[in-house]
Amino acid sequence: MADNPSNLINILIIDDEKDIRDGVERILTRMNCSVLKASRGDEGLKTLEKEKVAIVLLDMKMPGMDGMEVLRLIREMNETILVIVITGFATVETAIEAMKRGAYDFIPKPFEPDQLRIVINRAIEKIRLTHEAAMLEKERQQTLFDLDTEKSRIRTIIESLPNGVVVTNSQGQVVLMNPAFRKLLDLKTDLGPGKHICDYVAEKGLCDLIMDISKGKHVDFDDIPTYEFAVSDNRYLLARGQPVLGEKRECMGAVVNIVDITSMKVLDQLKSEFVAKVSHELRSPLSTIHEQLAVVLKDMVEEDLQADQEILSRAKEKTMGLISLIGDLLDLSRIEAGITSQEPTSIRIEQVLKNITDFLDAKAKSKEQTLTLELPKEPLPSITADPVALESLFGNLITNAIHYTQNGGSIKVKADLAGINIRVAVIDNGFGIKEKYLDKIFERFYRVKDEKTRFITGTGLGLPIVKSIVDSLGGMIDVESTPGEGSTFTVLLPIQRQTTT
Ligand code: ADP
Repeated sequence: MADNPSNLINILIIDDEKDIRDGVERILTRMNCSVLKASRGDEGLKTLEKEKVAIVLLDMKMPGMDGMEVLRLIREMNETILVIVITGFATVETAIEAMKRGAYDFIPKPFEPDQLRIVINRAIEKIRLTHEAAMLEKERQQTLFDLDTEKSRIRTIIESLPNGVVVTNSQGQVVLMNPAFRKLLDLKTDLGPGKHICDYVAEKGLCDLIMDISKGKHVDFDDIPTYEFAVSDNRYLLARGQPVLGEKRECMGAVVNIVDITSMKVLDQLKSEFVAKVSHELRSPLSTIHEQLAVVLKDMVEEDLQADQEILSRAKEKTMGLISLIGDLLDLSRIEAGITSQEPTSIRIEQVLKNITDFLDAKAKSKEQTLTLELPKEPLPSITADPVALESLFGNLITNAIHYTQNGGSIKVKADLAGINIRVAVIDNGFGIKEKYLDKIFERFYRVKDEKTRFITGTGLGLPIVKSIVDSLGGMIDVESTPGEGSTFTVLLPIQRQTTT
């Protein structure tokens, strides 16, 4: 049938000559077709009303309704039926006329069985191809429909996300932005997608981040670039971006996710305030106990109470540890709150480093270590900073180098000019740090505990203080370390301060 060519094909022969009808039936049945027969045009049309027929073999010359009229009515009834007209020798014109009126093919009478087979096979092939084309079209429609459904599903998900999402192409033009993005950034609602990201976003840092990612600057890095910024009414937003990569890892644009981190910030601030308060409250009584212990100990030495003296010495050590912890906590809170101990002034870094290395030299010598300072021949440009903060920054790094380097080791402090920055490296040949800890050591209270560091006392707050100071100066800090060989902490401080967000 026409719907499925693998089924038996129904062929109707309309011819007034019985011999032809029977002959055609014999040949076609052998070709595995099912044959219906009609001796007149009107009879054939009635059969077509009742049966599903794919091919009609139609004699042009019949008594009663003539073949041309039957052809017209068949075309009217069903356009998909293939009509093959049977014409006499002298009626080539009739055949041409019939083809013009929609007949599919013709076969001149009388015909050989082979001729009939060829014509019918051609028609069956045509039916098969038409069927296949229809199936492909149906599949294509279904695929388009599925794609459309998938697209609208993804769009709905993106639209309903609480986080802001913006997608750009490689030129930085916005391809998609969800309502949360508009809301978080207070965008005017009448600006639809399609324009350059900087037409929507006033925050320059965010704009630069999205442009950099869109243009492929982050393709070869695994890290997710982030940017934190404040918008009106004291809200803080964090943008995290990722490049959209094509098959050959070429950058096709950026996807940037924006989260409101105001509550996290508030919590962080509350935490810092709490720590500052508690530390402050603890410091005075602890210092008093420490002082009193010192006095008692002094008296004991005189009275030679050896055992008690040891207990109290340990107690004194512990109070000293607590006082230094509290000192660190207070420093950190102060730095995070942006409070400087002294007004920023113009500072010669060489002088700061010289003072600290001189001061810490005794500590290094007590461990038989060499502490050297290497300065460039040309004087370094001065920088504007809080001198106490700078002392704390390098003091912490050099003290760590002394602590985490074995007796007899060496520590080198090296300063030079690196483009627009002053670079200070604190290099030791001590214990080193395993790679897996390198990210963690800048977290508050994080201390590496292994067989070498276990007995070294500390608060885990030195490097967070260092990091906060470097951040407040608009600089950068990096650490390279090989366990068993040593560590290098490198600080870059900009000579000209950039405006920070
Ligand atoms: P603290 O020294 O009080 O433990 P820090 O925040 O200064 O805290 O340092 C965190 C951890 O980083 C230390 O516990 C130590 O394990 C490691 N560390 C810091 N500096 C060095 C260094 N120069 N060499 C080896 N390990 C270091």
